Parts: sequence; C-alpha cells; structure tokens
Amino acid sequence: MGKTRQYNIEGALLEIPLCYDELTGREIEIFPDFIENPVYTAQGHPVLFTGEDACTYGKSPDGTSCIDCGSCRFYRQTPGTLIGVCKHEQKRQIPSERRACDTAETKPYEGGI
Ligand code: SF4
Repeated sequence: MGKTRQYNIEGALLEIPLCYDELTGREIEIFPDFIENPVYTAQGHPVLFTGEDACTYGKSPDGTSCIDCGSCRFYRQTPGTLIGVCKHEQKRQIPSERRACDTAETKPYEGGI
C-alpha cells in the first residue's frame, strides 16, 4: 500500500490513501464512497465526504435547503480534510448491541398465564 493519512474522527478510525497530483504538485486524499460503505463514529453518527450530495434532512444555517453536506447545519467539518460528521439524529445508526437490547425490552410478552 502507498502513503496514507490516518484519522480518528470521534472514534471512527480511517486510513485514507494519498495520491500525488501532478497538476498541483501535492498529495491529495482519495476518499472512499461513504454512501456505499458507511462508516460511523463511536456514537453512531455517519462520517461523510464534505461534497456529498445533501440528503432530504439537509438544511443550510438559514433554514433553506442545501446542496451538499458541507453546507448543511448538521455537518461538523473535520479540520484539514474534506471529511466530517453528520449530527442529524435521523441519520444516526444506533449500535447493534443497543438495538438488540431495545428490541428485547420492547418485545411484547407472548407467554400464557
Ligand atoms: S450533513 Fe447529514 S443531514 Fe446534512 S445533508 Fe449531509 S447527511 Fe443530510
């Protein structure tokens, strides 16, 4: 594997490959497709590319619709890269352990008396 840059974004460990860009003379990060292969923080918030197309929950700071995650008020940009975290509760993935527990607690009683 070539050069990479590592990030710990709220508990999500990422290793982003770098590629030399002859046009700019700099190494640029090659981001994975976070929609195809989702990555979540320890609290279950999705990690996303700043330029990702806005979802239906996206809202700009003034309350109007936005075009991408980077212009959404729920997005928290990670400094120095084009990755960030979506803090919208509807996009949050509850860890499976907690989900299984919730399911068990809310399951109706099926036994007889
Ligand atoms: S930051 Fe979250 S809520 Fe906002 S557009 Fe992106 S995915 Fe949707």
